[in-house]
Amino acid sequence: MKIICSICLAEIARNEAVSLAVCGHVFDLTCILHCLQVNKRCPLCQQDVFGTTQEQQLIRMYFSTDNSDEKTINQLKFKIKNMSTEMQQLHNQTKELKALTKKHTEVKQELERSRELITLLHEKYSNLKVDFSMAKLDLSKKSG
Ligand SMILES: [Zn+2]
Ligand SMILES: [Zn+2]
Repeated sequence: MKIICSICLAEIARNEAVSLAVCGHVFDLTCILHCLQVNKRCPLCQQDVFGTTQEQQLIRMYFSTDNSDEKTINQLKFKIKNMSTEMQQLHNQTKELKALTKKHTEVKQELERSRELITLLHEKYSNLKVDFSMAKLDLSKKSG
């Protein structure tokens, strides 16, 4: 839990927290001293502290804090960092996979073209075989 000074809106340093005796509102020491010099009222609820000495106005506060929030945040930060690394890896893998898929398509197309060429060559070969047989037949007729 962060304790915020309602005057400067910053987090109150651990040894700087004071509470106004009349109302209990908490500020940091520097801010409230500054405020009370200008106006002897609580900056939050306007309760009058006039007529009391400074010792009677302010109560020093010493909070016992634990840093469990900070711990959780650090754990989450660590998790997020790990997750982004994983995401990056996945992203790279996806990119590689895409490149491979593209290559696969290209190879498949080339294979298809080669098959067509082979079929064409087969046809040509068959035609040539027929031509050759005819020519042989012709030759044997002429010589016979
Ligand atoms: Zn302050
Ligand atoms: Zn107050």
